[in-house]
Amino acid sequence: MTVTTLTAENLNPFKIAQRQIEHAASLLNLPKEAVEILKHPKRVLSVTFPVKMDNGEVRVFEGYRSQHNDAVGPTKGGIRFHPDVTLDEVKALSMWMSFKCGVVGLPYGGGKGGVICDPREMSKGELERVSRGFMEAIADIVGPEKDIPAPDVYTTPQIMGWMMDTFSRLKGFNSPGVITGKPLIIGGSKGRNEATARGCVFTIQEALKDMGKTPEGATVAIQGFGNAGRIAAKLLSELGCRIVAVSDSRGAIYDPQGLDMNRVEELKDQGDLSAYGASSAIQPEKLLELDVDILVPAALENVITSASAAQIKARIVAEAANGPTTPEADEILFGNGVKVIPDILANAGGVTVSYFEWVQNLMNYYWSEEEVNLKLKTAMTEAYRAVQDLATQYKTDLRTAAYMISMERISKAMEARGWV
Ligand code: GLU
Repeated sequence: MTVTTLTAENLNPFKIAQRQIEHAASLLNLPKEAVEILKHPKRVLSVTFPVKMDNGEVRVFEGYRSQHNDAVGPTKGGIRFHPDVTLDEVKALSMWMSFKCGVVGLPYGGGKGGVICDPREMSKGELERVSRGFMEAIADIVGPEKDIPAPDVYTTPQIMGWMMDTFSRLKGFNSPGVITGKPLIIGGSKGRNEATARGCVFTIQEALKDMGKTPEGATVAIQGFGNAGRIAAKLLSELGCRIVAVSDSRGAIYDPQGLDMNRVEELKDQGDLSAYGASSAIQPEKLLELDVDILVPAALENVITSASAAQIKARIVAEAANGPTTPEADEILFGNGVKVIPDILANAGGVTVSYFEWVQNLMNYYWSEEEVNLKLKTAMTEAYRAVQDLATQYKTDLRTAAYMISMERISKAMEARGWV
């Protein structure tokens, strides 16, 4: 039996994104053509490219780039390297990028890319050749004024550096603005690496404030220990939160007294969280059900479904990941009074500082980390307040309110351009 029949839910991320659009549209008064346009990406490129592996074999890799909507500005969004990448997933992720940029008011539409591969099983040289090969394959449709990629799951500043270099060589001039999340020395922005997590923490602070709580002593479980999850754990513990559980793709650990985060970081660097001690090992699914104040899904899609939503005891679910909660689960969580800070708001800090990086590249003038973080705080706090106010007004959940703000914005841009 497949997961889909077990839960009677359609877990296709593209279908989920379309349902979210339809749901928000039902509360808005947009031209129906605008809604129809938003339900599909404008352009999708599917590529294959050969890469010579270390053992001399040539492997053909498959990848995609989806550009959802460019009414507001050029498309923008990360590139994911993961064995489970699918075209529908990349399409959905590009749609979520459009609405994410809309929530924070960035002058971008949404884009996303993905390559089916497993970087955990590749040498550095193989990773470089896959990165350069993919950039070469999509070079015609990206560029600082067209579509600007960035890091996502299992892609890094180094990979952005290789891709920027390949693009610049193809064009014959240095083009740092083609991609964000680059190493600092070649035009990266200070604060970009921490931005997704930092932005997420700003939204959590606002949510806590609304509940009359402070971060001190608040308990946290973090699912996923990559760039977003790991840095969120660090920032939250600096604020006085107690991180009681974390997981990565290999397993989960839990200590109700709070984990020793220095040790957790050390073990992660060595590649094995389970060495924390057998008594602290828990099933990764159980992490979602812990009685904590804050749950941060920070890995992949569809971790909170109708099968698990009713068991969630967290007061706040802050989606550092894209698409971790299904529409069915959203309904259950809302009914149970769980505050879900949706991905398109909670993790918008990454693309916000990507925008700052792109602006700095275009100006060739670079800002201090304080300046970046301050601008990020303002952007995230204002976005959170606007979403929360609309949600209160419409008695709806934060995801629907965030979609409403974004869809309205993009629809106005489409109207101004005469598309609808
Ligand atoms: N991949 C990140 C996201 O999903 C960042 C995208 C960007 O910086 O363009 O939001």
